[in-house]
Amino acid sequence: MHLQMYIDGQWVDAVDGQKRDIINPYNREVIATVAEGNEKDAKEAVSAARRTFDEGTWATTPANERGEIVHEIGRLIRAHREELAELETLDTGKTMSESLDDMDDIANVFIYFAGLADKEGGELIESPIPDSTSKVVREPVGVCGQITPWNYPLLQAAWKLAPALAAGNTLVMKPSEITPLTTVKVFALFEQAGVPAGVANLVLGPGHTTGAHLSESPEVDLISFTGGIDTGKKIMQAASNNVKKLALELGGKNPNIIFADADFDVAVDQALNAAFFHAGQVCSAGARVLVEESMHDAFVDALVDRAKNIKLGNGFSEDTQSGPLISAEHREKVEKYVTIAQEEGATLALGGKRPEAEELQKGFFYLPTIFTHCTADMRIVQEEVFGPVLTVETFASAEDAVTKANDSIYGLAGAVFTKDIAKAENVAAQLRMGTVWINDFHPYFAQASWGGYKQSGIGRELGRPGLEEYTETKHVFRNIKPEPLEWFK
Ligand code: NAD
Repeated sequence: MHLQMYIDGQWVDAVDGQKRDIINPYNREVIATVAEGNEKDAKEAVSAARRTFDEGTWATTPANERGEIVHEIGRLIRAHREELAELETLDTGKTMSESLDDMDDIANVFIYFAGLADKEGGELIESPIPDSTSKVVREPVGVCGQITPWNYPLLQAAWKLAPALAAGNTLVMKPSEITPLTTVKVFALFEQAGVPAGVANLVLGPGHTTGAHLSESPEVDLISFTGGIDTGKKIMQAASNNVKKLALELGGKNPNIIFADADFDVAVDQALNAAFFHAGQVCSAGARVLVEESMHDAFVDALVDRAKNIKLGNGFSEDTQSGPLISAEHREKVEKYVTIAQEEGATLALGGKRPEAEELQKGFFYLPTIFTHCTADMRIVQEEVFGPVLTVETFASAEDAVTKANDSIYGLAGAVFTKDIAKAENVAAQLRMGTVWINDFHPYFAQASWGGYKQSGIGRELGRPGLEEYTETKHVFRNIKPEPLEWFK
């Protein structure tokens, strides 16, 4: 399989003819080659998007018609659900059931923004000036650069593509260079759904060339990025070039607060899922458990018992519960953090190494790992590992839990488990995070906004704010009875 870029309605190889092998992280087999673009390809894609925005009709197409096309994309994704899920599993190693759930969520995102397309037109203002009308209208921002990571390749792309299209922008998407397959396939569905040439462009290639061009280019009006915090900072700097609108969805180190009065089995089960789902490669992973002192030992015992039975394997096998990490490089990063945790004095309660099973040797597997006796000042507690590594700290009171949970540069998500709902709501109100779950972990959906406080990001995706990111507001004031002012007599 060889996949190309999509620029100005044409499927094209890289200007310089470069290609990249795409590797299955389960067995290191080459599953596809893709065109490997650089600044030149990104420049062409940006020019196409600019020309189409300035001279084309997408921005002025009635919003309900754009909505119909976006809806059709959602319908086509549902129709191609299995095929897309298989590609996602090949590309990321995640289990098929995860990939199928991703595809359902992705289709829902397109359907949701399709419905919203003609419902955010603006508002009439009650003008305080006699004989005048005042309205605030929403218009597309223009050309949007969109850059996505490898952990949820198509899902993260959908959160950007659907609202940008619904709002009437043109765009250039750059997926992670290691997981581009499903995004390429969805661009073929865009074509089928009737997205006009030049509206949605796809460039493939490394971040420091293609991504950097999108961030710097004065022809791009908005950059929306999901990825790591260090890359986010670089993009923010580059975007200052022409004062682009900026949306950043960065990392997290998300606390999971377990009170002693929580339902024990629910809390253990959810903590397991929070930390080890998709091998912990989730921006909102509950990688930091804070458990009330009196419950600590029982909780850790139960957690270790459950975590050691997580079945690692091929994402296509029915009994696999977790796949590999995405790459050799990423596994090395996780291993580095495990060493750091040990040097810092954390106690290794489980894992801390690669699995020994013969069938897992080709993949980038790493065992679910749990550290106890952790404290908020440790790097293993403060920095995002983005792997199957869970730290456990204790707290003495609700106040102590909140203080520790908020002691982070991040503020993406967190959870609180207790049967005392008043306490849960009180803690939720004090957490400085974009999402707080009560007696649950991980739910997100198209209707509710997603994003981070503090260094977890700027702006919001999903929900109405997710569409508003892709619009500018314009105040149009009209004097109904124009007369000379005679201010300067
Ligand atoms: P990354 O920052 O390494 O790469 C993300 C994207 O940025 C890739 O497409 C990459 O090619 C591109 N890129 C790299 N350097 C660039 C540059 N100089 N200019 C422009 N683009 C550049 O992140 P990753 O390793 O792919 O993904 C993991 C990170 O993503 C984690 O930190 C995770 O928390 C974060 N993430 C956040 C969310 C969220 O919603 N907040 C969701 C998913 C992932």
